[in-house]
Amino acid sequence: MDKKEILSKFSTDPERYYNVKLFENQGFERKSCATCKRFYWTIDENRINCPDHSDDTYSFIGNPPTKKRFDYTQAWREVESFFKKNGHTSVSRYPVVCRWRDDLYFTIASIVDFQRVMGSKVVFEFPANPLIVPQTSLRFKDLENVGVTGRHFSSFCMIGQHSIPNSQGYWKDECIDLDYRLVTEQFGVDKKEVVFVEDVWEGGGSFGSSLEFFVKGLELGNAVFTEFQGDLSNYRTLDQQIIDMGAGLERFAWITMGTPTAYDCCFGPITSNLIEQTGIDTNSELLVRYFTEIAKNFERFSDLSEVRKNAIKSAGISDEQINKIITPLEGIYLIIDHIRTLIFAISDGALPSNVGGGYNLRIMLRRIISTMDRLSLKFDINDMIDMQIDYLNDTYPELEETREDVKTIIAIETDRYENSKSRMQKIVSKLNQKPTVDDLIRLYESDGVTPDYLKEMKVISDIPSTFYSKLSELHQSKKQKAQDQLSLEGLPETELLYYADDPKEFDAKVLKSFNQYVVLDRTSFYARGGGQEPDHGTIGGFDVVDVNKHGNIVLHELKGGAIKEGDTVSCIVDSQRRDDITKNHTSTHILNSSSRSVLGSWVWQHSAFKEEDHARLDITHHSALTDDEIVKIENLANSVVDKNMSVTIENFDRGTAEQKYGFKIYQGGIVPVKSVRIVSIEDFDTEACGGTHVKKTGEIKLVKITRTKRIQDGVVRIEFVSGDTALNYTKQHDVDLARESAELKDKAKLKEKRQEQKQELRERLPILVENITECKIGTNNVDKIVVDITEPGKPNFCSAMNDQYDEFFHISLGERLIEKDPLMVYCGVFEDGDRIRAIIYSGEQVGKDKKAGDIAKAVSEVLGGAGGGTQRFAQGGGKDKSKKNDAIEKAKTMVLGV
Ligand SMILES: [Zn+2]
Ligand SMILES: [Zn+2]
Repeated sequence: MDKKEILSKFSTDPERYYNVKLFENQGFERKSCATCKRFYWTIDENRINCPDHSDDTYSFIGNPPTKKRFDYTQAWREVESFFKKNGHTSVSRYPVVCRWRDDLYFTIASIVDFQRVMGSKVVFEFPANPLIVPQTSLRFKDLENVGVTGRHFSSFCMIGQHSIPNSQGYWKDECIDLDYRLVTEQFGVDKKEVVFVEDVWEGGGSFGSSLEFFVKGLELGNAVFTEFQGDLSNYRTLDQQIIDMGAGLERFAWITMGTPTAYDCCFGPITSNLIEQTGIDTNSELLVRYFTEIAKNFERFSDLSEVRKNAIKSAGISDEQINKIITPLEGIYLIIDHIRTLIFAISDGALPSNVGGGYNLRIMLRRIISTMDRLSLKFDINDMIDMQIDYLNDTYPELEETREDVKTIIAIETDRYENSKSRMQKIVSKLNQKPTVDDLIRLYESDGVTPDYLKEMKVISDIPSTFYSKLSELHQSKKQKAQDQLSLEGLPETELLYYADDPKEFDAKVLKSFNQYVVLDRTSFYARGGGQEPDHGTIGGFDVVDVNKHGNIVLHELKGGAIKEGDTVSCIVDSQRRDDITKNHTSTHILNSSSRSVLGSWVWQHSAFKEEDHARLDITHHSALTDDEIVKIENLANSVVDKNMSVTIENFDRGTAEQKYGFKIYQGGIVPVKSVRIVSIEDFDTEACGGTHVKKTGEIKLVKITRTKRIQDGVVRIEFVSGDTALNYTKQHDVDLARESAELKDKAKLKEKRQEQKQELRERLPILVENITECKIGTNNVDKIVVDITEPGKPNFCSAMNDQYDEFFHISLGERLIEKDPLMVYCGVFEDGDRIRAIIYSGEQVGKDKKAGDIAKAVSEVLGGAGGGTQRFAQGGGKDKSKKNDAIEKAKTMVLGV
């Protein structure tokens, strides 16, 4: 739908869509901007332009319109106390990692907190009505503006004011009245300064009118009245109308402080601390001039470098001032902003990586490091994290818990970046023309070279404005669900017995039977879901090979026959299989929490798979697991098994579950239902889960990790077994270990022997060489060396094939032999692990037709492998141990002829 069309329609009926009681009571007048014609409401009779086109735009910089000054923390206290006074509940922020929506990685606005997707429909669930929330919101589309424009952030606090109009909540009149009083009474802005601009909002199939409120050209907030569903030609009023007022807390602080940028008053003491460390001379008159021009020009030009260029010109800033003041300040602002975002994201469990939302975090950390390198800033990252968390403590005390974890993750990621720099340098040195935006994206995607690094290396002077938005688009989550191909229309929901008494033998009525598929009225067969594999067994005597859920209907796949619709059939679930899968499922929960305890708060379940005889759990973690970590995780898991903890299953209303347990319950992904099934292992682990579980952890007997592997950036796979499978595995493992250690012993012995021989050989080699070249034709039985000498002036052939000889022996002997006798060809064949290797030397006078390389090639072919080399020396080999003799014969024939 076109926003412009909606706006022009709504603006033709301002009484219906925009006029509120406040405007009448206060004598607001509706005007049209002399420049852009947009409609706005004001009590200032002299105003002729909208806030974007007025002379006073951004005049609050250096001259704030309030008597009181509030920084970020204080501004939130003011907002909170005002709304609480006026009947609102203040709700804690939701995580910035948006685990309750599968179409978003990060929380981008306060309203997202309360949206739940059910099928194709978005429903709202408010924990209180009306409410406010200081929602940290992450947005990565305008990264190039951050630090430069004075007001763009990669994360900001959205003051969310939300209400559903009913007996507790309110609608437009009260909303605008509250917002007006917040700005004028609580923050002390003159009534004449507040301007409301008519606008509309649309998204996700709904739309409504909105009023943006401005002071001195700065948009403080936008009150959206979500009211309709459909499109302009055909729409209806929503059952659930919503007030969605979002305001930037950073801007509320900025307007009262009047600092050159919003960054100066929103990060606490860290800003002045870093500026002091660098010793920048912050000439405040100059900064006010410059950043006011930046703010004004930002609306006029679409390209950031144009904005900057024009601001420099109109503010009259010299090159030296740019280099010594503005550029380093921009760097400091960027660094502070990005660190704050990383703190929130990592605290809420996101990891920098190449995939999904993790890439944004990686890019931000690399921007921080590149900026420090480019400007030769030597800030301690841990100190910066500490300063930020100390300051944020007041509003977000929960960050304290993850302070050290954030440092750990950032240190690991920083090391990785430093280590990749030399590789990036090589790639960059090969660039022979200025890269395009697509080149930049390719360089980042395939080689990890960030444009900030290129800027640091002076390959590019500016990062194209489209880079981050293009990259963001590439990484948007695009989850498409496969459509059901089967026609199950008209069938009732299947009654799920496995959530009730869970009988392993039961009778059921056949509602539908087609091809090999059967739908029953009720079933105890667990349908594949949540990574748990389906039950097997029999229905009416036929084997059940697969069970899947289609919506709320369970579809059983049979092998070997079909049954009649309408019949009642007896069904048997393979209870041994189910038991084993169940143990693996509960073990998955135990291992997940164990991993988090051992490794750190960033560990979340990425995915899981539970079969009868094996299972796996993929967790989010930055590095491959060490042996020590594996042992610790396994031990913790088994201590939970040994304690025989109770596993309880309860159903909760989703909102209640989220409030009670937090978002950690969504380990297995989002749950698109109103009632959530919560599986708790006493106080050790709590997850929303639809799978089957043991009643007591002791039933699991043992959890055994069989293998771990880093399967992608930021994800580690833990393969494991439990129950009797684990006990058998351990037994078998002990046997294997014993065998392996015996084998190792043999190998060690062999190695030792060869070592001895080497020593001996050093002493004996000259004599051996003498013996061979002194025409001692035939077999040397002690050394198992065969010598064939033809006639004087013709090539001679010597071979050795004893496995006690190693590479060292053959090379030493071959070298010396051809030196002593330039007509000699030497061929040594020996076993090395599971391979047969061949080493060939060919003397100087042997002739070009008997190259060592050619002989090695032919010999290797016989051995079933490949080889080659030069005229003088070559090697090769293969895997066929039975062909050792044939290989020597082949070489001999090539040298001596038939
Ligand atoms: Zn205008
Ligand atoms: Zn589960």
